[in-house]
Amino acid sequence: MEADIINSCPLCQKKSHLLIKGKEHLDAVEHYLKHRHAFVQDLPFDAPVREFIKSGFCHDCMDMIFGKTSDEIKYVQEGK
Ligand SMILES: [Zn+2]
Repeated sequence: MEADIINSCPLCQKKSHLLIKGKEHLDAVEHYLKHRHAFVQDLPFDAPVREFIKSGFCHDCMDMIFGKTSDEIKYVQEGK
């Protein structure tokens, strides 16, 4: 059980995707996206991954802004 989250970076507009695996993680993300009052801190992921789900910053911009990033955040390869 897995799902891809695709976001466009608000800074550089590049598209990135993040693979969410496992029912527990998927349910947590679904709950977060459906409920505007949900706290991103409650998501069971590392901080950079939570930030990606929330704001969509790409791998490099995440690193630039927050000083850390996640290799789970991968650029979408265009033209495939
Ligand atoms: Zn970016």
